[in-house]
Amino acid sequence: MQTLGHLINGRVDLTAERTQDVYNPSTGAVSKKLALASKATVEAAIAAADAAFPAWRDTPPIKRARIMFRFKELLEQNADHIAALIGEEHGKIVHDALGELQRGIENVEYACGVPELLKGEHTKNVGPNIDCWSEFQPLGVVVGITPFNFPVMVPLWMIPMAIASGNCFVLKPSERDPSSTLYIAQLLQEAGLPNGVLNVVQGDKLAVDTLIRDSRVQAVSFVGSTPIAEYIYQVATTHGKRCQALGGAKNHAIVMPDADLDNAANQLLGAAFGSSGERCMALSVAVAVGDATADLLVQKLQAAMKNLKVGPCHDKSNDFGPLITRAHQAKVVGYINSAEADGAKVVVDGREASVEGYEEGFYVGGTLIDHVTRKMDSYRDEIFGPVLQIVRVQTMQEAMELIDAHEYGNGTCIFTRDGEAARYFSDRIKVGMVGINVPLPVPVAYHSFGGWKRSLFGDLHAYGPDAVRFYTRRKTVTQRWPSSGVREGVEFSMPTMK
Ligand code: NAD
Repeated sequence: MQTLGHLINGRVDLTAERTQDVYNPSTGAVSKKLALASKATVEAAIAAADAAFPAWRDTPPIKRARIMFRFKELLEQNADHIAALIGEEHGKIVHDALGELQRGIENVEYACGVPELLKGEHTKNVGPNIDCWSEFQPLGVVVGITPFNFPVMVPLWMIPMAIASGNCFVLKPSERDPSSTLYIAQLLQEAGLPNGVLNVVQGDKLAVDTLIRDSRVQAVSFVGSTPIAEYIYQVATTHGKRCQALGGAKNHAIVMPDADLDNAANQLLGAAFGSSGERCMALSVAVAVGDATADLLVQKLQAAMKNLKVGPCHDKSNDFGPLITRAHQAKVVGYINSAEADGAKVVVDGREASVEGYEEGFYVGGTLIDHVTRKMDSYRDEIFGPVLQIVRVQTMQEAMELIDAHEYGNGTCIFTRDGEAARYFSDRIKVGMVGINVPLPVPVAYHSFGGWKRSLFGDLHAYGPDAVRFYTRRKTVTQRWPSSGVREGVEFSMPTMK
């Protein structure tokens, strides 16, 4: 059986004191072994990045950008292979995996503009013969720690802009689906990246704990669940590092009485069940305003869900695939059980889903639960499965209060034909990413991605303009070249331009 290793200083390293099984969730079988990094292996990766930094920081931005252009081409040329690798270990359907890759590539395209993005600010004559400029210098060694649900896209939120800005990078991907992440790192190497600029360490808590404490590491980007995000943020910042830690979510869609309900139902289906609901922007709660709206919406969803098809990742006729692990499958079923026990009504039940020929796969079918209330665990917690819950309210204000009161604030959406209501909603709602008749308002690569409340610890969002700021530090230089022979007198008061 193949063992996957680390990428350190341009070479695959299979050093492992411990290994972990990697599963194919479509079949439920173990497909590979993963080497788990020891402290020494992580330190070797940091040392490689640290050693590569002086030359890389001095490499002209246009040369760094050219590597990004080649990387983009290689990602496109190998798209089918990358999508297959994602599917085999994550379980997502091949066209969904291709969509993930495309959103990742758009971040590479953004980083191709790095010479323009790093130009800085300049003012001539701030005083007699005095000029002033601000420049954006790379930080040094920066670290990324990524989740299982987007093994290609989320690393591409971080790596392109971090290294195009002149930093060296150590990535710790999810240990549950590491192959596609390792493969794209090797493509970047093939695109001409010097050894040591990007290193990948496979591992678990031990690797993470080493990375977020090491004094050579300047900044940490994390994406994952909220408890771990909070932990990473606290430890990394205590150790003097810049940190952005993106956490979990519970994304609500308000369905107004005036909405086009056929359209809303279709959009909800894709946004709730796509990728088996294992997206941090999945719409997992529909807040229906008025009982008549709720009744009609449930009726339409129930009818449409008869056609939902769950099955293995390689079958393009499926709408979504299995969950990531057997333990996660049990957790999702547990939440459906608890909602039912708490008095909610399971309208469409995916608990018994079984796929012929794939009986050991980690499947849960699309599930619709009505009459969910804010006190239920299934409402409060992130389920991260193909479960759409309906909460009934009487007014838009009540719907907004519900959303604002939730601990997460990643994404939200309103379905309505009323521009005034939509404008009020997008202005006031306490959520970082808002859709108006757009169910998955994931910002494009030239905006930035981030939630509010306990969906993000730190100030700067991921990718886009915020990534340029996150991966650089500002230096402001004031210079004077006195005319020859002119000597300035002694000046004890604060210099001003009166
Ligand atoms: P996770 O928090 O379990 O793991 C994320 C990373 O942290 C992995 O690399 C993992 O190895 C590491 N990790 C796990 N436990 C750790 C510990 N105790 N100490 C140190 N490191 C640890 O998340 P996951 O299950 O891989 O991903 C799903 C979660 O990620 C969901 O909550 C989802 O909402 C969230 N997510 C958020 C965003 C966002 O942009 N806000 C994007 C994608 C996923």
